[in-house]
Amino acid sequence: MKIICIGRNYVEHAKEMNAPLPSTPIFFMKPETALLRTRDFFYPKFTSNLHYECEIVLKIDKVGKNIDEKFSHNYYSSCTLGIDFTARDVQQNCKEKGLPWEIAKSFDQSAPLSKIWIPLKNSNQEIKFELEKNGKTVQNGSSLNMIFSFDQIITYVSKFITLKKGDLIFTGTPAGVGQVEIGDNLKCLLMGKEVLNFNIR
Ligand code: ZN
Repeated sequence: MKIICIGRNYVEHAKEMNAPLPSTPIFFMKPETALLRTRDFFYPKFTSNLHYECEIVLKIDKVGKNIDEKFSHNYYSSCTLGIDFTARDVQQNCKEKGLPWEIAKSFDQSAPLSKIWIPLKNSNQEIKFELEKNGKTVQNGSSLNMIFSFDQIITYVSKFITLKKGDLIFTGTPAGVGQVEIGDNLKCLLMGKEVLNFNIR
């Protein structure tokens, strides 16, 4: 199983990062060990600027390579929410030096994931989601605001990498990213329903 993450997929998030809008999807990967399997997330020692990024996550249903966009919808049927934790200070240092981002993005527990999946009726269905930090809404997203749709992402990624059953795709974060501190609580809401809730230790 692999975890593929799309970067910079919402206009307002690209703006808040002072980053140009991409002309093709940008992706990176996290290993299976990035999944958070407990109720607590432990703040890593190698960063002092850890950011949450709440994202819609798709699960791949069957193997596929070079998937035509008109068939992309056959490769997933449900979604949930996850957090793409990012060590922003480490990432900034990597960017400045032109180095890969893995140590900033792919560390253990960097991908908390809800266990509650909702079925998708069609590719254009609007998925609304929110992230609350300590009870206050900090991110508010809609799948309709993505630069690249679920179907376009699957087509693009599968040009390079074979998708397999059980693979996960984090589809990018909307605006409102920010720091977490030890003691914070994060809660993700999908279509108004709580699907993930954990604490930073
Ligand atoms: Zn992200």
